[in-house]
Amino acid sequence: MFKALVVNKDEDGTVTQTIDTLDESQLPEGDVTVAVSHSTLNYKDGLCVNATGGLVRNFPHVPGIDFAGTVESSDDPRYKAGDKVVLTGWRVGEAHWGGYAQKARVKADWLVPLPDGLSPAQAMAVGTAGFTAMLAVMALEDHGLRPDQGPVLVTGAAGGVGSVATAILANLGYDVAGVTGRPEQEEYLKMLGANSVVPREDMATPSGRPLDRETWAGCVDAVGGGMVTKVLTQLKYGGSVAAVGLAGGAAMESATVVPFLLRGVNLLGIDSVMQPYDNRLRAWQRIVKDLPMDKLESMVQPATLSDLPQLGKDILKGQVKGRVVVDVNA
Ligand code: NDP
Repeated sequence: MFKALVVNKDEDGTVTQTIDTLDESQLPEGDVTVAVSHSTLNYKDGLCVNATGGLVRNFPHVPGIDFAGTVESSDDPRYKAGDKVVLTGWRVGEAHWGGYAQKARVKADWLVPLPDGLSPAQAMAVGTAGFTAMLAVMALEDHGLRPDQGPVLVTGAAGGVGSVATAILANLGYDVAGVTGRPEQEEYLKMLGANSVVPREDMATPSGRPLDRETWAGCVDAVGGGMVTKVLTQLKYGGSVAAVGLAGGAAMESATVVPFLLRGVNLLGIDSVMQPYDNRLRAWQRIVKDLPMDKLESMVQPATLSDLPQLGKDILKGQVKGRVVVDVNA
């Protein structure tokens, strides 16, 4: 028997979240059963906990798009009981029961071994948001970004993706500017390594001109919408935006092709969900190397399963700072 946060949606649309005691026979199919120790709260988890956004189709559902823990049993030769593992992506927590439970059963292909140098709690302080931030930095570097090219913008900087991206970029020697709608988080962002803080209102609305002054060598964008449209008009020649999220909206209204034509800029889509095994391993190894653990710890807000219904609402309103790490056994 084990505990899990179970989300239900009635025919009349009423959503409930309860902490239930479940039996292992209720777990979904998979080759590996994991004793989960930690999970996290990402923006998508907010959608799944509240059963909004259409990500969850079948109820009852156990959310939690990432987790770390110890293999309890495995039908796959790559894993044996006692191995420490981490999981992000593959629609776990959406189409398949996820990490808001003391046990999870998944396909072996979806797991990676916990990288040396990271505890399960630290891996989940990184979680999907931090893993995606690393993928975004890697994509920018693959497209030529180097620290001597000028400032790099991070949007949604006080959120999960933004906090980790800020800390990684600063540690790699980049001049980081963080965009935030929360001026009270300026000190936090500077502690993570941001050189400057840009008020959200300065970046939220495109100027209406196809090109603005060349300002940013690159950008990790967690906000989307008008903000990514504006960043494109302000990129230096050949610069790239790694588009990660849409916390501020999906539509890129009034965007034009002009920055692509006249400044050779790149819009790089980042998808953490379907990353092949080798890329996931490479990103986790880079995280161990490039993300200072003291900075990671200062982003963390600890939580328990019973905190998640409220935190799931808060993250959708952009009110969560840094990374929420859920101890599922607390
Ligand atoms: P968070 O809520 O932790 O961070 C989002 C941040 O965006 C907020 O903290 C806030 O930052 C800012 N923000 C929120 N609402 C608005 C708004 N209306 N206008 C402008 N800025 C806003 O979420 P995550 O960091 O977990 O995720 C960020 C985005 O990235 C989400 O859309 C998520 O779905 C996506 N994502 C995508 C992944 C992928 O594989 N592509 C993986 C992980 C996440 P501040 O207060 O500093 O302004």
